Amino acid sequence: MHALQLSSRPAGDSRRALLEVPGEEMRSWLHARGQAPLRARQMRRWLLAGRATSFEQMSDLPKQLRDELAAAYRPLGSDIARHLISCDGTHKLLLRLHDEQVIECVLLQEADRRTVCISTQVGCGMGCVFCASGLGGLVRNLTAGEILEQLIHARNLLPAEERLTHIVVMGMGEPLANLDALLEALAVATSPQGLGIGARHVTISTVGLPAKIRQLADLKKQYHLAVSLHAPNEELRTRIVPTNDKTGLPAILEAAGYFQATTGRQVTYEYVLLRDLNDQPAHAAELAKLLRGRQAHVNLIPFNDVEGLPYRRLTQQALTDFVAILRGGGISAKVRKRKGADIDAACGQLRRAANTEESHHESHE
Ligand code: SF4
Repeated sequence: MHALQLSSRPAGDSRRALLEVPGEEMRSWLHARGQAPLRARQMRRWLLAGRATSFEQMSDLPKQLRDELAAAYRPLGSDIARHLISCDGTHKLLLRLHDEQVIECVLLQEADRRTVCISTQVGCGMGCVFCASGLGGLVRNLTAGEILEQLIHARNLLPAEERLTHIVVMGMGEPLANLDALLEALAVATSPQGLGIGARHVTISTVGLPAKIRQLADLKKQYHLAVSLHAPNEELRTRIVPTNDKTGLPAILEAAGYFQATTGRQVTYEYVLLRDLNDQPAHAAELAKLLRGRQAHVNLIPFNDVEGLPYRRLTQQALTDFVAILRGGGISAKVRKRKGADIDAACGQLRRAANTEESHHESHE
């Protein structure tokens, strides 16, 4: 594992990032300097396709304009505060935002796939009991620009001849609680003039906000939906995903069924296996019954111990039995492989570690 510690932004830097500046505002800024509106498009192209991280690199812009841009704006609003590289080729970036908040994104490399896992919020308000991201609650939504910048930073790690192929929206936050910003970012990510990632290669994961699932379905995009179930009945699910007490399983499954019927895309159900809590044969049988007839696919995610949380990884035997019971019940099921284990690649762990380090540091000052 390699860890690269990178520099921070100068204190008091209040310049806004290019992707945060509305098109109209940028065009009038350019107009005031006698520049054509197409310069705005040129700059975006440099960020999205040209991999520029400074105005200086935007070599087809006049030198004076580049200097004026650098004085007024930042090409990217986020900095890489920390960069970890796992021995299996997984990269994890801790990005510092303009307000000093930090978020994580992960680049996974497997055969021809270059997948980025992105965050949509700082913190998370859903409070899933096994999750490091939810421990401090929700801080704020990310902007579309901040979501897009995660993809840009991850893409910039790849050699020039490679490009991103897949996006999974499974990082910090509940994506459907920040749907507008997410959709805006994905529109650019999937556009040929943007990052050119196929819409069918985008997976949005949710704990289940029924109204938002329906809204997403009605847009008839090709995005794939993953619903985080984690339990086969109301009582247990409310213990693991506290927001379930307001929503309830029937409403979530109904909305997921609507998504499948409207978009024609199979829904994946995610299930984090926690030892002795939701990993018993009876849970597997109940899950198979719950999903029967739904053409569902289940992704099983064995929990990995997180410092500060009381849950444990299930035994190999329990995992084998769980998969066999599901498959025996006619449900397609797969166990998710663990990537980046040596760099805390699971959701929220690195941010939490960094925040803890910071507070230790502060308490020692
Ligand atoms: S698992 Fe996802 S939805 Fe649940 S608290 Fe963590 S980030 Fe939020």
